[in-house]
Amino acid sequence: MNTKIFALGASALALALSAPAFADDAATEEVPTPTMSFGEWGFDPTTLSTDVDPGDDFFAYANQKWLDANPLPAEFSRFGAFNLLREKSTADVKALVDRLTSKDPATLSADEKRIVEAYNTYLDTAAIESAGLAPAQPHLDAIKGADTLAALAEVWGTPGYSSPLYAYVEVDAKEPTRYSVHAGSGGLGLPDRDYYLDQSEKGKDIQAKYRDYLAFLLGEAGYADASGMAEKVYDFEDSLARKVAWDRATRRNDDLTYNALTPEELNAKAGGFPLAAMLTASGFEDIDRFIVTDLPPSPERAEELGLDAETLAKIGGGMPAAMQLILDTPMDVLQAWTAKGFLSSNAAVLPKRFDDAQFAFYGTTLNGTPEQRPRWKRAIGETEGLLGELLGKSYVAEYFPPENKAAMDELVANLRKAMAQSIDGLDWMGEATKEQAVAKLDAFDPKIGYRENLETYEGLAIASGAPIANRMAAAEWGWQDMLSKLGGPIDRTEWYMLPQTVNAYYNPTKNEIVFPAAILQQPFFGISADPAVNYGGIGGVIGHEMGHGFDDQGSKSDGTGALRNWWTDADRKAFDKLGDALVEQYNSYCPLDDGETCVNGRLTLGENIGDLGGLSLAYRAYKLSLNGKEDKVIDGLTGDQRFFLAWAQVWRSQQREAAARQRLTTDPHSPEEFRVNGIVRNMDAWYDAFGVTSDDDLYLPPEERITIW
Ligand SMILES: [Zn+2]
Repeated sequence: MNTKIFALGASALALALSAPAFADDAATEEVPTPTMSFGEWGFDPTTLSTDVDPGDDFFAYANQKWLDANPLPAEFSRFGAFNLLREKSTADVKALVDRLTSKDPATLSADEKRIVEAYNTYLDTAAIESAGLAPAQPHLDAIKGADTLAALAEVWGTPGYSSPLYAYVEVDAKEPTRYSVHAGSGGLGLPDRDYYLDQSEKGKDIQAKYRDYLAFLLGEAGYADASGMAEKVYDFEDSLARKVAWDRATRRNDDLTYNALTPEELNAKAGGFPLAAMLTASGFEDIDRFIVTDLPPSPERAEELGLDAETLAKIGGGMPAAMQLILDTPMDVLQAWTAKGFLSSNAAVLPKRFDDAQFAFYGTTLNGTPEQRPRWKRAIGETEGLLGELLGKSYVAEYFPPENKAAMDELVANLRKAMAQSIDGLDWMGEATKEQAVAKLDAFDPKIGYRENLETYEGLAIASGAPIANRMAAAEWGWQDMLSKLGGPIDRTEWYMLPQTVNAYYNPTKNEIVFPAAILQQPFFGISADPAVNYGGIGGVIGHEMGHGFDDQGSKSDGTGALRNWWTDADRKAFDKLGDALVEQYNSYCPLDDGETCVNGRLTLGENIGDLGGLSLAYRAYKLSLNGKEDKVIDGLTGDQRFFLAWAQVWRSQQREAAARQRLTTDPHSPEEFRVNGIVRNMDAWYDAFGVTSDDDLYLPPEERITIW
């Protein structure tokens, strides 16, 4: 949790972390990755499922035929249009790296050498195998040697080690002209606190397998009674889950997660925990303000924020309770917890048995993925983790045509026009709030393709044959880079995604919408694709990110990025009511366990508003682009039909049941099926485009359709 940005889809990084993979030295046959035809104008009409009525299941109408013909390859927990592009991006970057590795090393520049070393070092599983645990040993020794809480807190404050508490530098949400240190608690090895509370058979099975995994790691770390210690480490995390952690949906509340404290106030909450030792090790000295992200509200504050008893019950003790729990936990358990964290997070660059064990748990048990990703794909990911923007520079030069940027500029401009029109016409919002909303819209900062001053990682040394050392060096380099922001002006050129990342995001503190080069490809965008398809694809994505600026949380920040209420009470109430209705709609989508396991409408509200607002704005912009004219019919499909099909195609995807289960708990995005069906059924234009009537399953009577933006 480094910052609070709102992405279009779960990030590849998050997926990589939750489904880490292992090295397979045996030359296994690679399952071919599915391909997708986009036809002549951006959507291949021969892929339509003509046996499905679009009004009954629009997602299936657009996608089922392709999904049936393209079963999930073994290395994926899910696969669809997004993954297709991500695979392409990985292959594109691989081609750039191959060009370097095939060169005479003597001719490589210093930067090229670093890329080659990072990539080859990760690939060299024979060297990793023969090094054994030796490269990790100094770090395990440092953890074992930290036999006082103050000493261990110093380890926690050192980049590259696991810590149950975190602190980082980010733009201050209430004063977005400065950086502040943010702090909070974490420490769970399972994906969410719900995994510890789950008393179902499935849940208990996952808990047991997790304890086995912990026992394996601790046995390797040299603990004589590894199983016994694994129980204690698990119990520590279980207590964090029960007493400290917050329910995921409550953590979305920007008012709740902004708690500015002076150092004295923060120290007073430490209750004897040597917080200063940790902060000093992190380089946080002479800090005037800490923003604690998980401080439970006082009764007065809770009332002010209108939190009901049900919501309050989901708020754990947060950072103060974490520090108390740490004080109550024996040193040897805390050390073991830190050691297993180090081994688990570095399993990919430790001997195969580590990588296998980690994949068996995080890949197979938690996500249902049968097979590890090929090592070379993971090596590209590793190199991107170490030197991503260096690769990004070559990626942009090779794969990002300037005309894509020009076309995007025009699309963004049209979406902004559409949003201005939409705000002007809203019947639920008064004039005073509209004025503020327009000011925010005018202040949007769109970024397309890549950041202007791509990072050069000056001073970051990459050593051949030392993958753990490389990671520690990168962690330290990144930390110093972050520290250097404190006290300085806001860096508006910084990006949270690489140019080669297939995703997009909205960042509220900078009020910026960001579209990396790699997402500007089909099925999202094609320079010569039908405009209706581009509006339904990337247009919907642009609208989605703009929509985040006006979703249930993003709407709490103004055009300067400041967390400040710019709404009249009446307008806020009307907006909340629309959001509540959308929550109810999504709560009713229950894809698992015979309708027993459902989408969390509150957790996914921001993303659902992004989708609903986004597609509505894209549709409006598409219509504006036609200047009142009727679009032509192509292959028997009207412009409106092609627009909606493009949106459905973007979310073409299927996943394993275990992955679906995990995402329902942890992912703020709704399952793809509902990102399509749950959105279009709220839009009148979709009913007209496909002749949907009250006989159809997705039909909603007009008074139940929700229009927000
Ligand atoms: Zn989003």
